[in-house]
Amino acid sequence: MALVEIKNLHKSFGSNHVLRGIDFTVEQGEVVCVIGPSGSGKSTLLRCVNLLEVPEVGEVFVRGEDITDRDCHLDAARQQIGMVFQQFNLFPHLSVLANCTVAQTSVLKRGKAEAEQIARANLDRVGLNEKVTAYPMQLSGGQQQRVAIARALSMDPALMLFDEPTSALDPELVGDVLTVMRKLALDGMTMLVVTHEMAFAREVADRVVFMDAGVIVEQGPPAEVIGNPKEERTRTFLRRVL
Ligand code: ADP
Ligand code: MG
Repeated sequence: MALVEIKNLHKSFGSNHVLRGIDFTVEQGEVVCVIGPSGSGKSTLLRCVNLLEVPEVGEVFVRGEDITDRDCHLDAARQQIGMVFQQFNLFPHLSVLANCTVAQTSVLKRGKAEAEQIARANLDRVGLNEKVTAYPMQLSGGQQQRVAIARALSMDPALMLFDEPTSALDPELVGDVLTVMRKLALDGMTMLVVTHEMAFAREVADRVVFMDAGVIVEQGPPAEVIGNPKEERTRTFLRRVL
């Protein structure tokens, strides 16, 4: 069974028909990178996977459960999905450690000591064990993004969604975040990543999905989609970004 299966997904905002019939799966342990022009619906697709946006047509299955079904226990489904945004969305008034424990204690009902132990292990994983007492505004953008990753990992997600996680960073800080993501992929984390980092997609993705105007135009191994695209629309896009 695929970890995520999306069937015939359609999403509009008013008269703007943004997703126009998306069919798509993510297998357990797979790293899928979504590429495509601005406005093509990449963020909307990602947000439909955890129902931050509700599609009008289509289904989203997480481990075989249809999360668009009214009877679905949405909170339980969402708990399996970690999300990292372009803007890190840390709680500014909480320390790094507290940012990584608050959802563990409130949502997963973990005790404080256990939550802190898990948070520290994940902060260690992203190379920030020395920053546990710092506050977000004392950190660089790259460090804040790594805290956001540690926070998501602390919820033991089965799937991590990344929406352009390095797009808001100064160029010299991008590498550290990509290194953490590369390590996560090697550890076997299932990841769905919207990115403009073609070198990362080429190296880390098992599969690259090229979206344009609300449809998947082409998908396959990076060597094919990025290295030798079949579709003219993919070639046009790649000429602009490479
Ligand atoms: P991408 O991530 O590929 O740049 P998006 O999914 O963010 O594309 O946006 C696709 C289209 O949907 C754009 O035309 C955008 O303006 C529109 N859109 C996205 N979110 C909303 C929203 N919450 N309300 C209205 N329009 C939206
Ligand atoms: Mg986007």
